[in-house]
Amino acid sequence: MTAKIIDGKEIAAEIRKEITAGVEALLADGGPHPGLATVLVGDNPASHTYVRAKRKACAEVGIESFGHELPADASQAEVEKLVSELNADSAVHGILVQLPLPAGLDEEAILKAISIEKDVDGFHPLNIGRLAQKGREPLFVPCTPAGCLVLLRKAGAKLEGANAVVVGRSNIVGMPAALLLVKENATVTICHSKTTDLPGVCRRADILIAAIGRARMIRGDWIKPGAYVIDVGTNRIDDPTTKSGYRQVGDVDFDEAMEVAGAITPSPGGVGPMTITLLLQNTLRSASRMRP
Ligand code: NDP
Repeated sequence: MTAKIIDGKEIAAEIRKEITAGVEALLADGGPHPGLATVLVGDNPASHTYVRAKRKACAEVGIESFGHELPADASQAEVEKLVSELNADSAVHGILVQLPLPAGLDEEAILKAISIEKDVDGFHPLNIGRLAQKGREPLFVPCTPAGCLVLLRKAGAKLEGANAVVVGRSNIVGMPAALLLVKENATVTICHSKTTDLPGVCRRADILIAAIGRARMIRGDWIKPGAYVIDVGTNRIDDPTTKSGYRQVGDVDFDEAMEVAGAITPSPGGVGPMTITLLLQNTLRSASRMRP
């Protein structure tokens, strides 16, 4: 069997076109110009790169972005004051605090300070709590897990009644991905570093989401024939044949999985392009919701 490749770049490009049209329609209808505020604390180079990419993506679909930077030694009060000003700013429909925050800052308190109406990253404890409760709906869902679900739907996976296995239980990927699958009526197993017989558990999965951060850990013979595999992992491995000396691989051994899975996302080019796309979508939704 050769798996179908779930092309995240192509799917993200389609959705971004819809977002561009949505922004234009909102403006034509007298609605607000969607705006995203980014808050970057400190000088983590990866965080700077992510925020730059998010602001560039905003510009491409016609969403305004407002960049705010604070020094690495900013106090808890200073960060919370900025968040509170952005909560009150009517030009801002989404607030993104880039994680991780420098050591010493209370991440939970800062995320909690964001108005849930502007929590486009979906990390506010209330939004996560609603995601975990039956019959309650969060205003926003975290972007990477939401992107995984979009990819599964676009690939034609049947979620209801499926056996889904999520490897990883982080607050930003694994756990919300599992909660989203439960909401879709899948039967979900969450695995982590203490799981026994991980290969055996994975082999029962009709839907397998890998969010581990370990290069090519999931082997072909851990995969049920025909399964849908979503590889969230982004790991750097040495590759002297490339200019940079390294390249990105996922948490799944892609070549082996291609022989067994029914459909699979590549890494790069799978989940990655979806994350920012869902952030743009959340910002547009927020602006549409806040229109006067
Ligand atoms: P975390 O490090 O926060 O979580 C990793 C999870 O994997 C933990 O729950 C951990 O278990 C589990 N784990 C680690 N080792 C093993 C093991 N040997 N067996 C089983 N489970 C294990 O990572 P994130 O969730 O933040 O990210 C996961 C991956 O996804 C990374 O490669 C990251 O770069 C990528 N990522 C990609 C994004 C994108 O847009 N494409 C966005 C966000 C992340 P335990 O809880 O027991 O420690």
